[in-house]
Amino acid sequence: MSISDRIEKLLLKAEIGKPLTREDIIVLLKMPGELLSDLFATADRVRHNDVGNEIFLRGIIEFSNVCQRNCLYCGLRQGNAKVERYRMTDQEILETAATIKKAGIATCVLQSGEDSFYNADKICRLVESIKEETDLVLTLSIGERPASDYRAFAEAGANRYLLKHETASTELYQYLRPGCRLDARVSCLQTLKTLGFETGTGNMVGLPGQTPEILADDLLLMRMLDADMLGIGPFLPHPDTPLAGIENDGIDMTLRVIAIARLLTRNTNIPATTALATLHPQGRLLALAAGANVVMPDFTPEAYKRRYDIYPGRADVGSAEEIIKGLKKDFESIGRTISTSVGNRPKTLNSEPTLH
Ligand code: SF4
Repeated sequence: MSISDRIEKLLLKAEIGKPLTREDIIVLLKMPGELLSDLFATADRVRHNDVGNEIFLRGIIEFSNVCQRNCLYCGLRQGNAKVERYRMTDQEILETAATIKKAGIATCVLQSGEDSFYNADKICRLVESIKEETDLVLTLSIGERPASDYRAFAEAGANRYLLKHETASTELYQYLRPGCRLDARVSCLQTLKTLGFETGTGNMVGLPGQTPEILADDLLLMRMLDADMLGIGPFLPHPDTPLAGIENDGIDMTLRVIAIARLLTRNTNIPATTALATLHPQGRLLALAAGANVVMPDFTPEAYKRRYDIYPGRADVGSAEEIIKGLKKDFESIGRTISTSVGNRPKTLNSEPTLH
């Protein structure tokens, strides 16, 4: 069987909802570039069928860039003395949440480094205040915590939690995140699911030492966890980290992973990440045409935004109005519109895939 026949069969199998094996996934990750448009078009149809044509926005507030971890790829790592550290005040955080609400966005994401200054009590008070003043659906992205903290966050009203696993390779994980363990991360994700959070995980694509086999394991881990949100972004080397100077090969592999994630998980929420928009001028739109259905504009006040320096040259600079206006224009150019709903993961699959 020729490679193009094999790919065609695999894509048909995926589109009608039959599970892809690890070997199938590896074939798709390695498929010739000239057949990629078929993969992206299939993922786009599954996206249209299972989560619709609207794009869900999540407004991000990066409220602290303090982190006690030392991840090799991240500009916020504790060992990077060049970062000007900040913590937004509670008032600033509440005002930013109000800006998100005013922009017509129904959900916000509170994101920080792993900053123990924010104990469970502080986070719970923040969650309660934001819920009380804005009623936004609220996502936390604040790293690994004990199960008791996660329970307290849920009781305070937090709805979602993002905790990317980054890589499913135990060895690569331990190398990239010194002192951390992949099994502890997975255990946190399982706890979050059990507590009823809409749970997000995800990975970085283009890491040094990463292979298609490791990426296949990433995708299978996302499916095994039954994660509701999948943040798949390219590795972008930061000049003030130990991985400075290691180049990402480009956008193609990240788009493949997004498309395969859509085929594997069907009705999950998959962002076209800011990191993709940073790597390639059309990165966000290309991801939206390859299975993604979410965009997460950054509403962090300008004075802090440039200091949340996880990777260099981040896209999404400008005021809230400018960012939303730009996104609307971009989405219109591909025939998509912004949803004003909260965009939870649908509870069921659309049972009749549309075949073209
Ligand atoms: S990736 Fe997260 S935990 Fe690691 S150094 Fe950066 S902010 Fe901290």
